[in-house]
Amino acid sequence: MMTLIKSKKSAILLFLILVIIGFTFFYGKSLFFKHNSANNVKSVKIVSKIKAKKASKSYNEPITTAVTSTEYPIKSSTSKITSIISSNAISDNEILSLVDRSNRNELFESPMPLNTPIFSSNKKANKLLALTFDDGPSKEFTKKYVDVLKSLNVKSTFFIVGKMAEKNPNLLTYIAENGNEIGIHSYSHKYMPLMTPEQMIDELYKTQAIVVNTTGVKPDLFRPPYGAFNNTLVKISNALGLHVVLWTVDPDDWKRPGIPNIINTIVSKSSSGSVILMHEGNSETLAALPQIIVKLRSKGYSFVTVSELMKAYQ
Ligand SMILES: [Zn+2]
Repeated sequence: MMTLIKSKKSAILLFLILVIIGFTFFYGKSLFFKHNSANNVKSVKIVSKIKAKKASKSYNEPITTAVTSTEYPIKSSTSKITSIISSNAISDNEILSLVDRSNRNELFESPMPLNTPIFSSNKKANKLLALTFDDGPSKEFTKKYVDVLKSLNVKSTFFIVGKMAEKNPNLLTYIAENGNEIGIHSYSHKYMPLMTPEQMIDELYKTQAIVVNTTGVKPDLFRPPYGAFNNTLVKISNALGLHVVLWTVDPDDWKRPGIPNIINTIVSKSSSGSVILMHEGNSETLAALPQIIVKLRSKGYSFVTVSELMKAYQ
């Protein structure tokens, strides 16, 4: 009897071991293939992948980001697009039904096709440049930036943060009244690829509404915080009538590299059709701005808004 029990126990144990080995083998193999196919798309950063998996869950899809460090930067990003993460995109129909147009008529006069190409420069725009300023409006800086631009007869584009704009609506008006363009830069300035589609819509629509209600103009440009986006964010932006805009020249001014470095990087790296990324809330950038404009003008460049640069074919 004891031998029978023992052998039954051993048989069960053996069976369990075989099941575990089998499961590990097949699961491990499928994981291996998943990683390989992702690597074939482009080099993948493991850290970003883990972060994306943790946060995406049912909402797992390609993420492209201009972030190069393993931590999310607090203030800004670099111009290098480094990570693409594989997987499933949400369908266009799902996006269109999530972006319920019924209550938002004033923002949907001309919705653009989903997956409209991301804009970062226009090489056909001979000797034209677009200066852009992110992260405002700021009580301390915005007016000063606008006044420098005005004194040098330059139009630029401000990518404003919704929660900042809410506190300073008069600054939005000041930006627009002086001939500058207003694009949006999300409501909360959080890392957006890991948000749910509903959160993305909220971030964008809320900020569009603030700009429309304050200036009467519907913003149609969106620069994602940290330059980080995925397919869903692009499509949702497009469904809300927003072009996604990145940049081609980045002086890393938020790191405060010194006024001469900001000037030199921008002047040496700009070429026809470049979009130049700068930030508000930075005294070095403000101090560098007049010289940036004067030096680039002396090289034959003139300045237009991002929308004008997009349309320029000279
Ligand atoms: Zn920003």
